[in-house]
Amino acid sequence: MLGQMMQTPLLISSLLRHAAAVHGDTEIVSRGADGADHRYTYADAHHRACRLANALLSLGVRPGDRVATLAWNGHRHLELYYAVSGMGAVCHTVNPRLFLDQIAYIIDHAEDTLVCFDVAFRSLAEALAPRCPRVRAWVLLADEGDERDELEAPAPPGTLRYEALLAAQPDDFAWPALDEHTAAGLCYTSGTTGHPKGVLYSHRSTVLQAMAIALPDAVALSARDVLAPVSSMFHVMSWGLPYAASLVGSTLVLPGPKLDGASLFRLFEDEGVTVSAAVPTVWLGLATYMAEHALRLSTLKRVLIGGSACPRALIATLQDDFGVEVIHAWGMTETSPLGTVSRPKRKHASLPADRRLDLQVKQGRPVFGVEVKVVGADGAELPRDGAAAGDLLVRGPWVCASYFKADENDQLRDGWFPTGDVATIDPDSYVQITDRSKDVIKSGGEWISSIELENLAVAHPSIQEAAVIGVAHPKWGERPLVVAVRKPGATVSGAELLAFYEGKVAKWWRPDDVVFVAELPHTATGKLLKTRLRAEYRDYRLPTS
Ligand code: AMP
Repeated sequence: MLGQMMQTPLLISSLLRHAAAVHGDTEIVSRGADGADHRYTYADAHHRACRLANALLSLGVRPGDRVATLAWNGHRHLELYYAVSGMGAVCHTVNPRLFLDQIAYIIDHAEDTLVCFDVAFRSLAEALAPRCPRVRAWVLLADEGDERDELEAPAPPGTLRYEALLAAQPDDFAWPALDEHTAAGLCYTSGTTGHPKGVLYSHRSTVLQAMAIALPDAVALSARDVLAPVSSMFHVMSWGLPYAASLVGSTLVLPGPKLDGASLFRLFEDEGVTVSAAVPTVWLGLATYMAEHALRLSTLKRVLIGGSACPRALIATLQDDFGVEVIHAWGMTETSPLGTVSRPKRKHASLPADRRLDLQVKQGRPVFGVEVKVVGADGAELPRDGAAAGDLLVRGPWVCASYFKADENDQLRDGWFPTGDVATIDPDSYVQITDRSKDVIKSGGEWISSIELENLAVAHPSIQEAAVIGVAHPKWGERPLVVAVRKPGATVSGAELLAFYEGKVAKWWRPDDVVFVAELPHTATGKLLKTRLRAEYRDYRLPTS
């Protein structure tokens, strides 16, 4: 017997329609490259998304077509999110920080018909155009005013103007009643080997995840919040936060290109931001800036941190020195990305501060919808004892079943998605990521967690950032090497840093050596680029060799 309730599909257009109807006067603020703000409301954004959908139709965009973006977090990018998906096409957010070859490959593989780009990416668009013959039109996302300044800069010939396209269209649009499983967004993930792979989100997966993001034990978003997603709109749809903002009617503050400590501090104070989200390096920059200038944020209450492991020292600094609660979370492009979130349970209320931090360093519990398990080399599930580390597998309605243009379910293991992360799960279901499987250090047949050794290195007061990699060792196979950046003015020696590990990890986990560098390499999404480090230190001779 079927239930007798309405079969209203879960659609991305309904998120914006809801925000426009119920929170019509709530503001969306976007900070431009020049520091000037663009301000309007959800009602305005909806009207402009309608104009854009009409314009896309007039350009020949049809349901299922891919429309690419090369843009920072800003209001036009937001309009593209809603209009492209809302009309039944696919919003393909391209990471402009990737190498040109990779971007050209991605645009070609996705068969994007239109590419919409920020003024900042005019030269990039020009370089791409001859390599992307299938793109029918290039669209410049800029104010009329911006364009005059930039007219001299190169751009693909025949580039269309976004504002002119919108001005020519009516501001209403009948959003189609799509099947909720229709493709809505596309995001490529760059593995360390092979070509980037496309993850194709649906309307349903996007809306369900937005609901989960807003839950109290996730980001606890509400209509009283001022949300600033610093996580890039070109990386996993800014972690789904722009959709969650519409769902609850949060004021939305889009930071534009300037993400350094000083710029974010100013933005958060100017706009009264209460909640934000970004990778650890962004928070490190903000915390360093505030410490140097003896500043405190007056409105920021909590921050979502993910993308790579959030060091214990950073959690402690943000909470104890600046009064900002840290919500540590884990996810990946293939999981939309919300997977696990570290928030305490009721029974943790009386934990001493140190034990509470132990919990926060973990990546947290799966939110409803996501199931997790860890398995050993034989595929058998490992005990949830917080100690047994194995391959982390996940499944759920916003987890990727197969990559774009790949065979259906080809990479799943018995219906579970293998994340490539190594993790433990404790009896309370808190997941702790110990490594990417390719980053784990294999010493004498046992595994050493590079993440834990990195966490300890940055807990040293003189260390700014650290990566720990496995280096070949004649006896043990691999041993850990710390590659570290000192804080400005700090003089800590390698021996002092190694001594810092004493008593904090098992003896055989202690790194064998330290190399200090001025800077560590990062990927286009802000993660430590360990493949480069491993290549650089392939022939490094450890003193213990
Ligand atoms: P991406 O698909 O680029 O978002 O990268 C996803 C990967 O980032 C995951 O598979 C993890 O290896 C890593 N990651 C994300 N969040 C965390 C976290 N909180 N702690 C440790 N690693 C993380």
